[in-house]
Amino acid sequence: MPEGDTIHRTASALRTALGGKAMIRFDAPRLIGPVPQAGRTIEKVESHGKHLEIEWDNGMILHTHMRMSGSWHLYRQGEQWRRPYEQMRAAIENADWVAVCFNAPLVETYRRPDKRRHPGMGRLGPDLCKPDADLSLVVNLLLSFPDSEARIAEVLLDQRVMCGVGNVYRCEVLWATGISPFARVGDLSEADAVRIVNTAASQLRANLHHPRRVTANDVRGGLAVYGRNGQRCARCSGSVDMRRMGVHNRILYWCPGCQNHHDPRVANDPDDTPVMDPHPAAQRFLRDLPWNRDVV
Ligand SMILES: [Zn+2]
Repeated sequence: MPEGDTIHRTASALRTALGGKAMIRFDAPRLIGPVPQAGRTIEKVESHGKHLEIEWDNGMILHTHMRMSGSWHLYRQGEQWRRPYEQMRAAIENADWVAVCFNAPLVETYRRPDKRRHPGMGRLGPDLCKPDADLSLVVNLLLSFPDSEARIAEVLLDQRVMCGVGNVYRCEVLWATGISPFARVGDLSEADAVRIVNTAASQLRANLHHPRRVTANDVRGGLAVYGRNGQRCARCSGSVDMRRMGVHNRILYWCPGCQNHHDPRVANDPDDTPVMDPHPAAQRFLRDLPWNRDVV
C-alpha cells in the first residue's frame, strides 16, 4: 500500500524522467476525461497525499489516486514491466522512459480551471467502476448530502459521494434517468437516487473496455446529450441545450424537453450562465474528445 511519502518519491522520479520532455504515447483504458495528446510536454508532477498529478503544457492534468492498490512504475524503453498489461491504468511514454500506473482506482483528466474539483483531502466515495462498489452506500451519501439545495449535476461530480462519474457521465446519466440536472439533491426520492447510482455504475462498467464511450446505443455517436447541443433529442425530439454550471463552471448538456423530473425552474439563477457562443477553450476541449478526434 503506497503511503504519502512513497508517492512523494514516485513524483520526484516521474518529474526527472518525464519533466520537460515531449510525450510520444499515452494510454489509459479507463480514463475519465479528455485524452492527453502525443507531442505535448509534461511541465509538472506533483503529489498530495495519495493523489498524483501530472500536468502538460496545455493545462491538461492527469490525476491518479492510489488508494490501497495503485502504484506508478518507471521503466526504460524496452524494459519488461513487472506487472501484467491488464493491470495498467495509465502509461506515458517519451523517447527514453515509460511511466506506468498500475491498479489505481481513479484515473481522470481535466483542464487546469477545473482543479477546484480536486478533492485534495478527505475520504473518497466508492468507485462505481468497480464491481464490488457499495452502491447502497452511494445512495445513502446522495440522500444525506449536507447541502440539500445542491443540484444533482454538481453532486454527481463530488468525489466524496462517488468516484468515476466525470462531466460526460453526469450528463448522460441524468438524461437516461430523465432527471433535471438542476434538481435539488434534497428533493430526490430514494427511488431516484437508486436509479441514478445504478445507471451511473452500469454506464461506467459497460465502457471499461471500450475505446469509444457508448451510453445510448440508438444515438449516432453513442452519447445522448454530451457534445450534442443544438441537436435533436433521441427521446423527445426537443433540442439538446448546454450551459456552464456551478462553481466548477463545466459545460452541462441536457434536454430541457424531457429532463424535467424535479426541475425547480431556476432559469434566472445567476450561477447558470447560458453559453450562447462557446469559448475557444471549450471548442478545443470538444475537439480533443476521442470520438471527435476520430472524425478528423
Ligand atoms: Zn428530450
